[in-house]
Amino acid sequence: MADKSGFFGRLRERLGKTRSGLVTGVMGVFTRHSRIDEEVFEELEEILIQADLGVDTTLALVEQLRDEAREQKLEDPQDLLTLLKNALLTLLREGDHTMVWKAPQGVHVTLIAGVNGSGKTTTIGKLAAHLKADNKSVVLGAADTFRAAAAEQLTQWSERVGVPIIKDQEGADPASVAHDAASAAVSRAADCLIIDTAGRLHTKVNLMEEIRKIERVLGKQIPGAPHEVLLVLDATTGQNGLQQAKHFAETLSVTGIVLTKLDGTAKGGIAVAIQKQLGIPIKFVGVGEGVDDLQPFDPKEFVDALFASE
Ligand code: GDP
Ligand code: GDP
Ligand code: MG
Repeated sequence: MADKSGFFGRLRERLGKTRSGLVTGVMGVFTRHSRIDEEVFEELEEILIQADLGVDTTLALVEQLRDEAREQKLEDPQDLLTLLKNALLTLLREGDHTMVWKAPQGVHVTLIAGVNGSGKTTTIGKLAAHLKADNKSVVLGAADTFRAAAAEQLTQWSERVGVPIIKDQEGADPASVAHDAASAAVSRAADCLIIDTAGRLHTKVNLMEEIRKIERVLGKQIPGAPHEVLLVLDATTGQNGLQQAKHFAETLSVTGIVLTKLDGTAKGGIAVAIQKQLGIPIKFVGVGEGVDDLQPFDPKEFVDALFASE
């Protein structure tokens, strides 16, 4: 994660699909028309909705552009580009995107939630590598006990990164693994504990109850824990991800979003919809499977990468 400039290039390159859908579309509208009229705004609306910004977010954004264009008496559609970029940036900047890996006292605890295959375990591996490189001591808790392969996958990351992992057998009570992991982290005086959980559909009440139990168990052992509850969302699921996030946020005190797989989708606009409609800050973005393919979310960098010319 150290190589910021390298990541920007990768971000730009891997946002390729979103860029070609959203940005090329937007540029097309602005160049096709010689003056700003209602048709420009209508076409813009269509493109933003297709890029998964969501209907509400799009209508609000376009309305804002209309007002600003009128106030500033703009005529050239190209001038709308700057307005659009600024509006997106302002929107994405809302909320606290920073992740402070430090608890007021004791171990800093992060709970990871999300549906199956969203990228939870991979994200934990990447985060652990980042923390390790930052000289922090990390413990991983494999509270995904639903399938043996899940703990195995996290174990591989723990070996690769060189951090301890606490796990139990398949079918063990996930809350008891969380309990053991918290004890281990406390006795080792670790800086950070990250708890992996099984993928769960946001619609399954008993599984949502189960993760709440994990949250409670952590809180009993370590004051203020979990300090962060990160919801991992697969960007390729577009608007469906937004529904997932709403349900999770009703059950857990989600403090941030990790938006994964931005490399494989034209639906990168979902980042904007998440921020606008949920008000939960995106804290990290994933743009690939490699250990370096996760970065703290930087709104300016994101918008710049999106609109960067080749
Ligand atoms: P989990 O079920 O939520 O724990 O998901 P996993 O961590 O097992 O990830 C599911 C799949 O998504 C794996 O093949 C990961 O390598 C892949 N994956 C995770 N994050 C990203 C990402 O940012 N980009 C891409 N392309 N793949 C990712
Ligand atoms: P069934 O519900 O009787 O068909 O049996 P399953 O094997 O599907 O599930 C048995 C138990 O495993 C359920 O009561 C859940 O607690 C748990 N379970 C099932 N599916 C999942 C899942 O995707 N994630 C997690 N964490 N638990 C699951
Ligand atoms: Mg997993």
